This record gives sequence, structure tokens and C-alpha cells, in this order.
Amino acid sequence: MQVATAIAPVRELIRALPGPVAFVPTMGALHDGHLSLVDAAREHATGIVASVFVNPLQFGPTEDYAKYPRDYDGDFAKLAAAGVDVLFAPDATAMYPTGFSTTVDIGPMAHVFEGEIRKTHFAGVVTVVAKLLNIVQPDVLVLGQKDAQQTAVLRKLIRDLGYPVDVQIVPTSREPDGLARSSRNAFLTPEQRAAAPTLYAALVGMRDALLAGKSKYDATETADKILTEHALLDYFDIVDADTFEVLETLRPPAFVIGAARFGPTRLLDNLWIPD
Ligand code: AMP
Repeated sequence: MQVATAIAPVRELIRALPGPVAFVPTMGALHDGHLSLVDAAREHATGIVASVFVNPLQFGPTEDYAKYPRDYDGDFAKLAAAGVDVLFAPDATAMYPTGFSTTVDIGPMAHVFEGEIRKTHFAGVVTVVAKLLNIVQPDVLVLGQKDAQQTAVLRKLIRDLGYPVDVQIVPTSREPDGLARSSRNAFLTPEQRAAAPTLYAALVGMRDALLAGKSKYDATETADKILTEHALLDYFDIVDADTFEVLETLRPPAFVIGAARFGPTRLLDNLWIPD
């Protein structure tokens, strides 16, 4: 695996790859979920590029940017073993040199759910991915369904601005007890970790109630009862898979989405309901 930390050298390394090229952007602290994206990338391309960049733009002023888990040596070893060809690992000044001021706003979808709770989050995500796509110029962008709203937001960016890239969404990789793998799981205390799978269980309960014909109100109540009393619920809802608009009755393709706080750690999860 070859590594570059600046834009010009990474472009050169990528140009030398046999096409087509797939790109897996990450913030590092890699787990098996990230590596399942690399496996999926291999199915769609001959060259694989990954990035590790903890993007300061997508963290609010009171959020965990400084504390976000970082494990560069572990990430390097995992990506090399997984068969990544080129790793792009810039620091913040390589991506945002002095004077950088452009942001990309994809509109209302970025301001609901995660975007309502984390006001500038998606502007940061969209801006960094817009720049990364220009740097890497991949044929395929590989994203995880774990961050369902992020996939919808980035698909809209790609549609609206006409990036010539195919998007592949990879199903959520889970621990044996159902908890979605996440770099932030490392922050959970043993008690919170034991309680955390109730978020997934609540979403399963909600999805099954909806599929059994229950109203959204009843399905949400079912989910509420399953979520541990030790968690603080941010939201449970049903949304259109493409637009992320709230659905009052189930109309697939849709996501059942949920977010809850286990102590200071916010966890997100969702289930896909195909049509
Ligand atoms: P992150 O490093 O958290 O920004 O995630 C980088 C990419 O990995 C995003 O496309 C995520 O959606 C994806 N990802 C994170 N966790 C999982 C998971 N448990 N299963 C599948 N993809 C994931």
C-alpha cells in the first residue's frame, strides 16, 4: 500500500492505478465495518483508494473532534492487509489551507434529524467529500448504510453537481449482539456497552410492527419500550430512503431510523425497508 499525505502526490499515485478505481473515505479508528467497505470496493474496481481524515469541518464547537479516536498505525496495518492500493491521509492544513472558506450546502435534507441536532455537520461532510471526490476522481464511491442520512445527502450532492461516480452502499456490519459497529463504541462504559444493543432491538421492533400493519404511533411506542431506560432518545422515525422526508405511514423504500445517547455518546442506527 502506498501512502500520500498531500494532494499532488496522491493524485500521481492514483493516476498509476489500473482503473476502474473505488474510493472508501473514512475518519479512521477502523473496525470490521470499514473493512467490509474495502471488500465491497474490490467487487467493483481493480484499484482501491482509502482515506483516513478526521474532518474538523463536520464537528460542532462542543463536539468530540479532539477526542475522536485516532489509531493511525492500526489503520495503516488494517488497510494494507485488506488490499488497499493507495491510502490518502492528509492533515487538516493539506485539506483546508489558510484562506479556505468554501462550503457546499445541499439544502433542506442536511438540516433534519442529524442535521438538526448537529447544525453544521452535513455542510462539513458534503464539503470534504466534494473535495475528496475532486482529488481522487474515483469511478465508484463506497459508503456504509450505517450512516443512512449521510448516504442520502451524498447521493444528492453527486446527483445535483453531476459527479461522474457510481455509489455503492454497503449493509451495516454489526457485533454479534446486534450493535452497529462504530468508532464511537470505544467510548462506551461496560454498562453502556451492555445497554447499547437495545437501540438496534428497538428499530427491529419498530420495523416489524410497521410490517405487521401497526400505525407509526404504535410502532414508535413499541420501539420506546425496548430501548433501555439508561438511554436518552433523540429520535425514532420512518423516512423516505431517497429524500429523507418523514413518512406518516410506511412507504418503501424507506429507512426506520433511530438515535440515542448512552451517557455522552450518541449512537445512530437504521434499518432499510426495501419496496
Ligand atoms: P466513519 O469513519 O465513521 O466516517 O465511516 C466511514 C465509512 O464507513 C462511512 O461510509 C460509514 O457509513 C461506514 N461505516 C461506519 N460504520 C459502519 C458499519 N458498522 N457498517 C458498514 N459501514 C460502516
